[in-house]
Amino acid sequence: MTEHYQHRARKRFGQNFLHDAGVIHRILRAIHAREGERLVEIGPGQGALTEGLLGSGAQLDVVELDLDLIPILQGKFGQQANFRLNQGDALKFDFRQLSDAPHSLRVVGNLPYNISTPLIFHLLEHTGLIRDMHFMLQKEVVERLAAEPGGGDWGRLSIMVQYHCRVEHLFNVGPGAFNPPPKVDSAIVRLVPHEVLPHPARDHRLLEKVVREAFNQRRKTLRNTLKGLLDSGAIAAAGVDGSLRPEQLDLAAFVRLADRLAEQTSAG
Ligand code: SAM
Repeated sequence: MTEHYQHRARKRFGQNFLHDAGVIHRILRAIHAREGERLVEIGPGQGALTEGLLGSGAQLDVVELDLDLIPILQGKFGQQANFRLNQGDALKFDFRQLSDAPHSLRVVGNLPYNISTPLIFHLLEHTGLIRDMHFMLQKEVVERLAAEPGGGDWGRLSIMVQYHCRVEHLFNVGPGAFNPPPKVDSAIVRLVPHEVLPHPARDHRLLEKVVREAFNQRRKTLRNTLKGLLDSGAIAAAGVDGSLRPEQLDLAAFVRLADRLAEQTSAG
């Protein structure tokens, strides 16, 4: 196969290259890039999505870690004026260098699954810059991103992403669309940063702290897991029943707990 001849997929870089034209087309349609827009593609690989993205006339920066793919990408797209190649680790990439206009940057990628969660957390630090994000992820991760309170999928990832973004699980993609096929099902998700946060916390770092602590032991009651941060009186004062388990609380309730902690911290 041509891909094998040009480049052998590397497991350590999470390389599963898209080869199904129907799936590629469907992803490009969901992104719907337009001329003049500012896009960044994470992990372009051999350019399965890159080609269509460039065809839209949008300005496209790509961030690719694998040095062996750089000449392949440069050879395929280097002549196009709207293409810019950045070699490096997307986890360390400073997205602020691409745009300073609020909510202007569109981020896309068939992500390497081994870094998808840390990468999403990295991007959440720049939501003020980002208009939207379209990612191919492990289906299980998309289910956690789009989860609602009350079930096993609801946790730290759902809460912190939904604090910043509206989440849409767009469609699923089977392993056969990739070369080599991954062992898991995949899905496309759209994340749209809120222009105005629906449940703003006084200090979002305290929200992260409360959520992390609460889900450290998800089977225990909040009274137990939050012992080190908030006592039962403080939990009740936030309007939360301390006998519940963390997965039973919605985002608004976690924000009330974080705000209680903020008050306690500033008072003490
Ligand atoms: N977009 C291509 C496609 O759909 O065929 C490739 C997708 S493949 C799942 C993931 C890509 O991300 C690979 O090209 C891999 O080399 C690249 N990659 C892995 N880790 C990366 C990182 N930390 N930063 C940037 N790119 C990375």
